[in-house]
Amino acid sequence: MSPYTSPLAEELAPELLERFLRYVKVDTQSKRDRTQSPSTPGQLDLSRMLVDELRQLGLEDAELDGNGYVMATLPSTANGNAPTIGLIAHVDTSPDESGTGVEPLVHRDYDGGVIELPKLGTRLDPATMPELLGKVGHDLVSSSGDTLLGADDKAGVAEVMAAVAYLAAHPELPRPTIRVGFTPDEEVGQGAKIFDLERFGADCAYTLDGSEAGEYTDETFTAASADVRIRGVDVHPGFATGKLVNATRLAGEILAKLPPELTPEATADREGFIHVYSVEGSAGAATIRAIVRDFDDDRLAGHVALLRKVAEDVVAAEPRADVEVEVAPQYPNMRTYLDERPEVSSAAEEALRREGFEPRRVPIRGGTDGSILSARGLPTPNLFTGGHEFHSVREWASAQDMASAAAVTVRLAGVWAERG
Ligand SMILES: [Zn+2]
Repeated sequence: MSPYTSPLAEELAPELLERFLRYVKVDTQSKRDRTQSPSTPGQLDLSRMLVDELRQLGLEDAELDGNGYVMATLPSTANGNAPTIGLIAHVDTSPDESGTGVEPLVHRDYDGGVIELPKLGTRLDPATMPELLGKVGHDLVSSSGDTLLGADDKAGVAEVMAAVAYLAAHPELPRPTIRVGFTPDEEVGQGAKIFDLERFGADCAYTLDGSEAGEYTDETFTAASADVRIRGVDVHPGFATGKLVNATRLAGEILAKLPPELTPEATADREGFIHVYSVEGSAGAATIRAIVRDFDDDRLAGHVALLRKVAEDVVAAEPRADVEVEVAPQYPNMRTYLDERPEVSSAAEEALRREGFEPRRVPIRGGTDGSILSARGLPTPNLFTGGHEFHSVREWASAQDMASAAAVTVRLAGVWAERG
């Protein structure tokens, strides 16, 4: 049995894999606390390469802007008034693991066993990664074990490129006007914020930044950050009797009172959480940094209120200390915006069906560029890429599933052309 979902996917696969292996070797790791866009110069190396390749494909207006965004147009071949559709992927990789010197390895015709990678004893083991069991007979790509692979999101970048190359070579296939957008700094939460929607000029868009084949996402967390700042009274410990108020001990009390069942490690599916990711403290002052997540805006507000109440109650018991809780929204659940444009998700489902998938709607316990883009007025659900174990040295991708993602993208163009 062929591991490909269609002859189209099989036709797209070799060139797509070749692109992917080329792109992952470019170090495009982004950096938190950026001072400019993009946050790191390596991202521009890949972006320039993509501009050249898009121009070679005939997308003559391909351009890299001053903030590191690549945009290009594939003109319509459809009759009528099909809307302009955007295809978006991010060029940066996560700061969580090294992205330097990525050596991609292709494991042909996977047999369902454990794959031992050459570096750091890293293993791809179906016992802990059950998705592997569905990939017997596939060609899997991994790193050598000591870096990210970078499938997040170079799988998406390669799939957009392969789909656009195919469509450009087949003008007889009706397609809408397609706008391609490659963004920097998605992994540090900045990619969508200064994305120039007016210049992009699409009516809706799709990010290719998901995981398992057949999945798409039109729902993400609603996200807020919460910083709890505690001020105590610092006195030399030798003279502290009855005077010192230790802010760090108060921080510890607050942490101990936060419900353990409301953490990322204790929740799943549609449950939200409060995640404390950093604590800094001295005797005089302490800061607890947390992120708060839920799919439901009211429940999110409830988690924030709980955190605030715990902090204020603990500190109220010590009148010489004070506390300030600063809450800031980070990104909204895209569902709110996509519900108003049901045709955007239905086109994705139709394209998945045409490639032989029964579409699976999977809410993401996180955000995508599409969360912010949807809120800013460009409805943007997320499609699968075929990559797994993102942000780790165990990251892997299936060449066949990547080919399916590119084929779904080609079919998506067909769906929208018919709707013109
Ligand atoms: Zn990603």
